[in-house]
Amino acid sequence: MAAGLSGKIPVGVSSCLLGERVRYDGGHKRHDYVVESLGKYFELHPFCPEFAVGLGVPRKPIQLTRDGTGELRCVQVDDPRVDHGRALRDSLDAERIQRLGLCGYILKKGSPSCGIEAVPVWRGENPVGESSGIFAHALMQAFPWLPVEDEGRLGEAPLRDNFIQRVFVLRRWFALMEEWRSKPGPAALTRFHARHKLIIMSCDPASYPTLGRLLAEARKDDLAGIAKQYLSGLMAALGQPASPGKHANVLLHVLGYLKHKLDRDEREALRQGIDDFQEGRVSLQTPISLLNRQFSRHPDPYIADSWYMNPEPGELALRSGS
Ligand code: SF4
Repeated sequence: MAAGLSGKIPVGVSSCLLGERVRYDGGHKRHDYVVESLGKYFELHPFCPEFAVGLGVPRKPIQLTRDGTGELRCVQVDDPRVDHGRALRDSLDAERIQRLGLCGYILKKGSPSCGIEAVPVWRGENPVGESSGIFAHALMQAFPWLPVEDEGRLGEAPLRDNFIQRVFVLRRWFALMEEWRSKPGPAALTRFHARHKLIIMSCDPASYPTLGRLLAEARKDDLAGIAKQYLSGLMAALGQPASPGKHANVLLHVLGYLKHKLDRDEREALRQGIDDFQEGRVSLQTPISLLNRQFSRHPDPYIADSWYMNPEPGELALRSGS
């Protein structure tokens, strides 16, 4: 598992998105944003389930089907008797994913193996529904807390930012767990929770107290179990996309920390920055920078410690599109 917070973050990727010629027709689907932009901060680990199960390149195309019994299969288009479903399911190497410490996964959209959603399911000549691809489904079932996206959804800024944020949070979680091995105790978990408070509030405000109660009720003899439950709850909360309204509430909450330290004009300027963001005139970074400028004059240890107010440089660069 990757150590600490330095270095690139390990992330799994469908091989064809990295330009590997593993598609059924011998081609690839190199995705420049994944390779060049994400690749600056993420260590990309390719995997092609169809190639891994020995289907070869080139190979006969496959598709999802559902027969009369409702069972989802992944069959050869020109011969539905050839079903690769079980092999593709079994190609998931959970031990490898854990060993590499993958903090996210980027999959190829629409593939009967890798697609995370809306992959057509056929019965004979007719589409009868949609599903995730066989490998993607197995991955998401085995690691429900793992951030998983496809390259199509990464084209939408809110989904992309949310994915990037979850990847960074998960890396920090793994780093915490590593420290924990030598020094287990509830204090580190509580601090982790506090440092992520504003991020959680920007996604799913109700989860912050719920997760806090989980930690408060933790018994010394079951800390590992609580940590597991916490991770599931945390990643489910962060999977709810933030909205301008939720961000504005968080920023107003942060402004409260400066209440008695600013004069009326200074407070008004910050409120205006938050309004400008909420109305779409400036990016989120603008009110955060305005607030941080005031916190540099009036330091607050809680704000200085907050990952929302002070993200890691890589996260900041990716989320601002550089
Ligand atoms: S979509 Fe998945 S299975 Fe298909 S070529 Fe790409 S990596 Fe391989």
